[in-house]
Amino acid sequence: MNTVVSEGIIKVTSQCKACDHCSFICPTGAISGTLGQKHQINVGKCINCGQCLISCPFGAIEDISMVEQVKQALKDPRKTVVVQEAPAVRVALGEEFGQPPGTNVKEKMYAALRKLGFDQVFDTEFTADLTIMEEGTELIYRVFNALGVEGYEDIGPLPQFTSCCPAWIKYAEDKFPRILPYISSAKSPQQMFGPIAKTYLPEKLGVNPTDIFVVSVMPCTAKKYECSRPEMIASGFQDVDAVITTRELAQMIKEAGIDFLSLPNEKADRFIGLSTGAATIFGATGGVMEAALRTAYELLSGEILDKVEFKAVRGMQPVREATVEIPVKQLGKVIPVNVCIVTGIKHVDSIIEDVLNGRSNYHFIEVMNCPGGCINGGGQPIRRDTY
Ligand code: SF4
Repeated sequence: MNTVVSEGIIKVTSQCKACDHCSFICPTGAISGTLGQKHQINVGKCINCGQCLISCPFGAIEDISMVEQVKQALKDPRKTVVVQEAPAVRVALGEEFGQPPGTNVKEKMYAALRKLGFDQVFDTEFTADLTIMEEGTELIYRVFNALGVEGYEDIGPLPQFTSCCPAWIKYAEDKFPRILPYISSAKSPQQMFGPIAKTYLPEKLGVNPTDIFVVSVMPCTAKKYECSRPEMIASGFQDVDAVITTRELAQMIKEAGIDFLSLPNEKADRFIGLSTGAATIFGATGGVMEAALRTAYELLSGEILDKVEFKAVRGMQPVREATVEIPVKQLGKVIPVNVCIVTGIKHVDSIIEDVLNGRSNYHFIEVMNCPGGCINGGGQPIRRDTY
């Protein structure tokens, strides 16, 4: 059964106290209502990021749940239930079990997922590496096209925008459709994982592809929307069958009576369980950019990098820029690549307008909706004690 979400991911419940806090947080003006009047979400304008949900002081905003579908699949003996978890989950899940924010509980989480009944336990990092290779290679082709190198005429224009944040993609589609040719054609890591799990794994495990059920554990409510987009079901099979958040995984672990902190440390399963350090940094702002630059640098220069860090793209400022000099072996010269990192969607409008008006000097732009990146996504633990 395909999970199609037409009524929106985020809902204001009857617990709304009409304090109006959420409408200040919402980056797209999707929340209507005034002080003293129950608020409502305009599904067309909402980008499903859940920032209102984690900010509501009364817990009056909820995201739709796919937990029941996951539980049904786990109970079904015909199903092989495969789970992927995103890098930002492992450093937040521990908070739900009393650990300080940032504690890496990855190996206990693998053990918990197996105890919950998941048959194959993996990491989205494997496909984050694939996204890096796709986006890095696409960037090179776009640079070659812009430099007039023969054979690259059909490639899209510069600058290239990243494509892995589904809230950013919906924002671009809704407000700036003319920017779409500038966005990388690569699927997000979550969505690359689904088809790989449903084509490569059945061969390796000797199971019927139609019996594979793919679950994602994400720091992000917008990923629920992404998995239900019609083009993510284009093959007739849904790439990712259900998405649960970090909060929902913690709830499932608690409901099952699992003593999380006493679990042994375990590893991810084989076949698609390996990854590089470049994939790990995807969860923070600047991470996709840094990882893709490493790939582009090595492919263009033909050199293996000794020092693999591009520290200029790190930080927490909402808009950061840097220039990276890359020696291009094929052209026999060094080219400067101008990059920009945007965290927080409300900061992107003027950058898009500059691109559309031919005023931008950037070659590559990373956009992540949530402040600081996915580590602060709408599916992460909520700390109401800080209010
Ligand atoms: Fe989801 Fe990350 Fe985008 Fe936030 S920044 S909406 S968590 S993909």
